[in-house]
Amino acid sequence: MARVAALAAERVRPGARLVFVRLKVSARSHLLADGGEAARAAFARATCGTPLDGAGIELIPVPVGASCRACGARGEWDGLTLDCRACGAGPLAVEEAPEALLHELVLEDVEE
Ligand SMILES: [Zn+2]
Repeated sequence: MARVAALAAERVRPGARLVFVRLKVSARSHLLADGGEAARAAFARATCGTPLDGAGIELIPVPVGASCRACGARGEWDGLTLDCRACGAGPLAVEEAPEALLHELVLEDVEE
């Protein structure tokens, strides 16, 4: 989360304050395992005492695609089973995806 905070800090324009960060997170990521609690806590620690102090973070789960080598079916991987839902064969080829991507910053203007 320190990296996310650093990236966000670079993008906050002068005269604005960061309200929250939207982060796209792979559905496979451990960041979602506890509903994002640990990620929020880590982000709060990383921004404490910086100009980003008080900003929130929102995690947007991004489905991970998977395809079946046997029958060619494509779909979203549920993160649980690598058996194909169409033909029952496995393992599915799960697509590589970045764990987390900075998606959007929500800013508000600061009155001077
Ligand atoms: Zn299949």
